[in-house]
Amino acid sequence: MDKHLETRIIHSHFDQERHYGSLTQPLYQTSTFVFGNAEEGERRFAGEEEGYMYTRLGNPTVAELEHKMADLEATESAVAFASGMGAVSAVLMHLLNSGDHVIVTRGVYGCTYGFLELFRDKYGLTYDLIHMDDESSLEQVLVPETKVIYVETPINPTMKVVDLEMVTAFAKKHGLKVVVDNTFSSPYLQQPSLSGADFILHSATKYISGHGDVIAGIVCGPKEDMDIIRMSTLKDIGAVLGPFDAWLLLRGIKTLGVRMDRHCENAAFLFDKLKQADGVTSIIYPGDSSFPDHKITQKQMRKPGGMISFEIDGGKKAAQSFLNHLKLCKRAVSLGDAETLIQHPASMTHAVVPEEERLKMGINDSLIRISAGLEHKEDIWADIRQSLLAATTQEG
Ligand SMILES: *Cc1c(COP(=O)(O)O)cnc(C)c1O
Repeated sequence: MDKHLETRIIHSHFDQERHYGSLTQPLYQTSTFVFGNAEEGERRFAGEEEGYMYTRLGNPTVAELEHKMADLEATESAVAFASGMGAVSAVLMHLLNSGDHVIVTRGVYGCTYGFLELFRDKYGLTYDLIHMDDESSLEQVLVPETKVIYVETPINPTMKVVDLEMVTAFAKKHGLKVVVDNTFSSPYLQQPSLSGADFILHSATKYISGHGDVIAGIVCGPKEDMDIIRMSTLKDIGAVLGPFDAWLLLRGIKTLGVRMDRHCENAAFLFDKLKQADGVTSIIYPGDSSFPDHKITQKQMRKPGGMISFEIDGGKKAAQSFLNHLKLCKRAVSLGDAETLIQHPASMTHAVVPEEERLKMGINDSLIRISAGLEHKEDIWADIRQSLLAATTQEG
């Protein structure tokens, strides 16, 4: 499609005329599909004829979501999963064999780290966690077994931004595949395939849904690979997205553009306020002009995103007290919802990461992560401000 992203986010791929003119995509809440005759069933299972057989192998509502996401991420195809981790594990199992090596951004999502550890112990997968500041940092950990570079950018929750063009150029030179976890940006802020990434995945639970009511994942990439993933690490492992969840995501996506604009506006406002606040020892936000990766952010992202982290004076005690004093903002992990969500990565999202590695990731006990919601920015700030005051001035 040649229309703008804002327009493609809204318009559907399905043939409305074939569905009584229905404006929205029908919900095919069915597990199986009836064949006109035995031969039709045979042809479909043989892959000789297009058509649905069983929802684990494909469903029209889920397919509509997959078409939309492939379009928005500018890839040939996409496959939906029951969770972001379903997507992460399926693409990595597709690309890696036992004994292979993967280069991963340091600070990667806690459960992705958990997956790498599990597969290292069970199947001899090896990996290196690095900051990916430049080519030489990649060169240093490259081994003959390296097959994949796995990138999260901006990285959760330390917001480090990785130069996607630098990484993909290095990967091309060495015959490696690049997988980008684009959860934090959504295709509205960043389309990694345009920088040369091979696979783009999302926890669609976050900005794609936007409403905090679905757990889902998606992988976007070349049709050849997506077809294999659909018939192997999706079909045979089975982290299949249900039709109703796909339908909720299709509904959520329609407002992705306007939501992202507001998330970004609110995060920028909170950054300005936190900068001047007492009790805040540092702030990490890619839109900060003194942020080390600010130039890369400007190069590859439309806007710096709706996530912001800061360190509170007083360590874990102050951080937990801050969370406990919140009245409007919600104490919760996840991100990208209408509600502002605030969490303590060291004891929540990254609790599974051993302390030594966690500190190398830049996640200390004082760090607090904010997912700026869609509320009025003054109301979000008023709540954060009163909570900061209570947490950093209270005695004992
Ligand atoms: C939440 C998240 C995941 C995992 O997604 P689920 O939908 O919770 O399985 C992966 N990567 C990032 C960056 C996330 O924020």
